[in-house]
Amino acid sequence: MALTALDIYKLLPKTNCAECGFPTCLAFAMQLATKKVAIDACPYVSEEAKASLAGAAAPPIRLVTLGPPDRRIQLGKETVLFRHEETFYHPPALAVRVSVDGAPGGLEAALDAIDKLAFERVGQQLRVEMAALDDRGAGPEAFAAAASAATGRKLALVLMSDDPKVLEAAAAGCREAKPLLYAATAENWEVMAGVAKTTGCPLAVRGKDLDDVADLTQKLAGQGVTDLILDSGARGLSRTLADLFQIRMLALKKTFRPLGYPAMAFVAPGEHPIDPVLHGSAFICKYAGLVIFDSLEAWQAMALLTMRQNIYTDPQKPIQVEPGVHTIGAPDANSPVLVTTNFSLTYFTVEGDTEASRIPSWAVVVDTEGQSVMTAWAADKFNAETIARALETSGIAERVAHRRAIIPGGVAAISGKLEELSSWEILVGPRESAGIPQFLRTRWQQVAASN
Ligand code: SF4
Repeated sequence: MALTALDIYKLLPKTNCAECGFPTCLAFAMQLATKKVAIDACPYVSEEAKASLAGAAAPPIRLVTLGPPDRRIQLGKETVLFRHEETFYHPPALAVRVSVDGAPGGLEAALDAIDKLAFERVGQQLRVEMAALDDRGAGPEAFAAAASAATGRKLALVLMSDDPKVLEAAAAGCREAKPLLYAATAENWEVMAGVAKTTGCPLAVRGKDLDDVADLTQKLAGQGVTDLILDSGARGLSRTLADLFQIRMLALKKTFRPLGYPAMAFVAPGEHPIDPVLHGSAFICKYAGLVIFDSLEAWQAMALLTMRQNIYTDPQKPIQVEPGVHTIGAPDANSPVLVTTNFSLTYFTVEGDTEASRIPSWAVVVDTEGQSVMTAWAADKFNAETIARALETSGIAERVAHRRAIIPGGVAAISGKLEELSSWEILVGPRESAGIPQFLRTRWQQVAASN
């Protein structure tokens, strides 16, 4: 829990010397409590007080970094229970488990399959970024070779073995890629603490329950090992969700430091192919930092990545594209001009449907602060004035030989006023983006041919 001004005041010298720029120590404490000044502004504060304040200022959930240098993954440092309170910051990593000695078709094929779980959606690259290599008695050499092969593909790794020596041998060869070592337990935590310190890799902590995990993290922190990911030992949807919720609640609401780390969850295959998607989605929402699947097909990964992208988009900052003129295909001076908003989901839907028409086109994207067509229209951000301004200032007039623009059918009511305000003939397009191909092949072609 954050310290109050009074808590902070108790740690200050209380001499009111004003050298910090504030007339009294209490005034300084009040500024410090709201993080408007740094403790260093007081030259007389003791080292003990500084340490106490630094501890209180640490995030309630530690930020843990793993993965290769050019694909680093950050987990944790979340600040709220509910996305609408602020936002969620660090999307959970998704991993697929690979048995080193028994991957169907071999290790390379299994890693290839994970590599291919990558998609583009609304202008962002989404991917399953981790392979969880499971040593099933493969031995130190085979396991280290597997880790090396996976690192060469720039996959982030979880190295899973019951034998600390096997983990150490594999991690030593790929420590630059910061694999997650799985796992420290009540039986091996001292040895695993040594491996984590030697290799500089983050460490998973597996307990029998949350008390066990909290006990282990305190012991490990006492050894200086603090880049930890928590596995409560729960398996199955309801038990895992309950533990993930407890961990997040205790970390945020009680500032319970022993559980103030990102947590992980495992997803079993389930009875139906949709089960891993449903369970994984639940863990993405509440509150996993890492989810490990036994296997994932492309359609399952796409659903999970879409869910993750939506949940980890700042609700107050929709994903946006640049306002201005965009090309769809290779348009020329006679190509159609479509007007839309800069909400990414809207723009990329329009782009996809226009591509499907096979008629190269121009898109004039109006700055609606990331709102969709009807939302922006209702908010008066996508109206005759803003569209007329975009048509006049975007430079589209220099790129086409005609003066015809197509607006979405949902805002047909503004077409007359828009024609008055601009020097453009306004064509009312379909209400739904899916109607664009038909519209361009028929209505647009008729209008273009009438010249
Ligand atoms: S410099 Fe330190 S001791 Fe002096 S008034 Fe500010 S907080 Fe108090």
